[in-house]
Formats: sequence, C-alpha cells, structure tokens
Amino acid sequence: MAKVPVTILGATGVVGQRLLRRLADHPWFEVAHVAASERSAGKRYGAVPWRIPGARPTAFDDLILDDASPSRPFSPLVFSALDTEAAREPEPAFAAAGALVCSNAATFRMEADVPLLVPEINAGVLALIAAQRMQRGWKGAILCNPNCTTTILALALAPLHHAFGVEAVLMTSLQAASGAGHPGVPSLDLLGNVVPHIPGEEAKVEEELPKIFGAPIPVSALCHRVPVIEGHTEAVSVRLKGAPSVEEVREAFAAWDPGLDLPSAPRRLIVLHAAEDRPQPRLDAESGDGMAVHIGRVRPCPILGMKFTALGSNTERGAAGGALLNAELAYSRGLLP
Ligand code: NAP
Repeated sequence: MAKVPVTILGATGVVGQRLLRRLADHPWFEVAHVAASERSAGKRYGAVPWRIPGARPTAFDDLILDDASPSRPFSPLVFSALDTEAAREPEPAFAAAGALVCSNAATFRMEADVPLLVPEINAGVLALIAAQRMQRGWKGAILCNPNCTTTILALALAPLHHAFGVEAVLMTSLQAASGAGHPGVPSLDLLGNVVPHIPGEEAKVEEELPKIFGAPIPVSALCHRVPVIEGHTEAVSVRLKGAPSVEEVREAFAAWDPGLDLPSAPRRLIVLHAAEDRPQPRLDAESGDGMAVHIGRVRPCPILGMKFTALGSNTERGAAGGALLNAELAYSRGLLP
C-alpha cells in the first residue's frame, strides 16, 4: 500500500526533528515536504543543524525547506511544529486547502470545534472534525494535541478518572529545558537554577485538562523550569471520588489498559514504579520510546487525599509522538481528506 505523503511545518525545531526521526521508518506515512521560517527556506535539509540526541536520519538530507505556505505542493497530512504565533496563519491555510493539520501549537487548541485529542482518553472528540469542516467550509481540519505538561498530567489522571472520578487537582511541575525549544531559555538563566515562571503554561494546563476530560475539573498548576534536558516531572495531589486507598489507586494505575492498537502506541502506557526514588527524568523519560507515562511515590495527601509523582517525555509523548499518535488514530478512522 502506498504511504501517505506528509508535510512537516517547523521541521528545523526540536519537535520537528523528533517528528522526522519518528517518520523515517513509519508504516503508513512518509515525509514528502519540510518547511520552516523564511530564514530556512531554500536550504537543503542536510545543511540544517541536527539538535536532538541520536544519529541524524539521512533520508531527508536532499529535501529543500519551504516556507510554511500552502501555495507549495502539499500533502493531505501536515504536522505543525510551529511556534504559537507562527502557526496562526499557516495552520488554517493548510486546513482550508484540504489538509488534516496535526498541530503541536497552542494557537487553536481551545477553539470549540477543534478536537484536543489524547487518543487513550477522548477518541470521541474526533467527531468534531466533521463539524469543523462544515462550519468553516474546509476540506481539511485542525486537530490538536495538548500542551506537553497537560498531556502527561491527563494520562497520569486518566486511570484514576476512569476508576473513581477526579474531583480536584493540584500539580507542581519541574519542566525540562527542551520544552522551550531551541535555543530556549538562556543558559545563564537556567544552569544551577529554578525559574518559577513559564509564560502561559499554568493557564494552559488549567484550561486544557477540563477540555480533554469533558468535565469542569478544578486544576491548580504551578509550573517551574529546571535545568533538566528532557522530561517533565509533575508532583500531583488529587481528590478522588470515594476516597480510595493507596492500594486501590496503585491497582487502578496497574490495571488501566486503553487498548490502543496503533503504530506509535506504547506497549505499556503507564509504568508504575515501586522504588522510592523513581521516576527520574534522566533514567525514565525516554524509556518505552518516550511514549509512556511514569508514576511513582503513590501516597496519602493530607489535603486532597492522594498524591504521586508523574513523569513523561515532553518532546515525545508531549509533542512529536503525541501528534503522530493523533494522526494515526485519525487515519485509521478514515478522517484524512
Ligand atoms: P523550536 O525548536 O523553537 O522550533 C520552532 C520551529 O518553528 C522551527 O522550525 C522554526 O524555523 C519555525 N518557525 C519559527 N518562526 C516561524 C515562522 N514565522 N514561520 C514559519 N516557521 C517558523 O520549537 P519546538 O520546541 O520544536 O516547538 C514547536 C511547537 O511545539 C511550539 O508551538 C511549542 O509550543 C510546541 N510544543 C513543544 C514542546 C517541547 O517539548 N519542545 C512540547 C509540546 C508542544 P526556523 O528554524 O527557520 O527558525
């Protein structure tokens, strides 16, 4: 079967390169076009610096970078790894021109007819694509994955919401430098330091989580940038219906199987750690292809009832891998134009 040609917008950035690496040997999709800013347009991809760990895939070296405009030849499937402002014009333009745009950007996430999808949690929101096409008169559509911190939190809470019902959440994040893209936070601001402000991040978590669960769950987020390269750690306190015990909560984490059979779905989505000093970003964030969410230190919370530590890869599960999983689900449901 012929593979679906895809375009990557923002192909020179941290998330764009993670997407390229994931797509280098994908069973359904193949990279046909790469685009970035006007600064990069016209360059051979092979001339662009490779910024993520591991060997650079050579398959894309001869592609020529476009600017992010649908006037170029484009594909039915577009991945957007553009910055929020940079995405504002191209994403709707590609969708109007007929592409399904799987976006990592925050720009359109909270619009009522835009699905904010985490396939293991709310696959039903794909129904919004038909409504979006009708309302906007587009042949294509925009399909968003949540902010990286929100994705990790949502997946950590999903087994508990499924088993008991989540009533309230307090989350303190310790977020990796790679979450700010390249070059990101200046090294002199971050080395040996903790920065207690990530612009817009707390509001994103507080708004996006209720949209994902389709329930008005109150969330308080406290977000910090820490000198860690990859992996967001989240200290979570949660109030659950019925006040389950630590053992019942651990069982809910261990038992949850969303049963998702897609090429990028992790074999084990929730990895429940027994050791008191896990999960840790350096040891755990990129295990399981970076698509798992790690849970540890489940224990009683004197304020909300239960608390634990969650960890996930911000650039993979929270961005490139999450967007790819969304595209795979949409494709498997016949939603590509
Ligand atoms: P990044 O490393 O800064 O890359 C940004 C990309 O956007 C580059 O390819 C850049 O191209 C391109 N770009 C910038 N301005 C542009 C413009 N005006 N027109 C066209 N292209 C433009 O950022 P990133 O970390 O990969 O993040 C990409 C998106 O994913 C952002 O919306 C971010 O919020 C989101 N996200 C990131 C993470 C993460 O962990 N990093 C997690 C979740 C979501 P040039 O190289 O030509 O400048």
